[in-house]
Amino acid sequence: MSSTKTIWLHPQAPMKPELGQSCNGCGVCCAAEPCPVARVFLWQYRGACRALIWNADHMRYQCGMLIQPAYYLRWLPLAWQYRFSQMINRWIAAGIGCDSDAEVAIAPSSEPGPS
Ligand code: SF4
Ligand code: SF4
Repeated sequence: MSSTKTIWLHPQAPMKPELGQSCNGCGVCCAAEPCPVARVFLWQYRGACRALIWNADHMRYQCGMLIQPAYYLRWLPLAWQYRFSQMINRWIAAGIGCDSDAEVAIAPSSEPGPS
């Protein structure tokens, strides 16, 4: 069953690639719904994941649970952060390829154009 939902992304975010192509950090999947990592560790079950971070330098989204998990998990000692990130990396299969079959349509801007 397909469904439609509205998500908000940075205007300079890259376009979502096709399913199976390299992940380019478009952020579509994580803005649409939390992944199992977010459900288990952040207790977030709907909406855009709160660990989704826009990286302006690299013009792409990144997973905050991957790069700074201790920021989100106050119980996680900083010394364990690296090992925990490795575990998250395997869990979300980061860098493997796009596993989202979402189809993206860009809504027309609601901003008034130049007159
Ligand atoms: S935890 Fe990371 S991979 Fe999972 S939805 Fe959030 S930002 Fe995306
Ligand atoms: S897995 Fe796909 S939808 Fe998710 S950020 Fe990467 S390219 Fe975008």
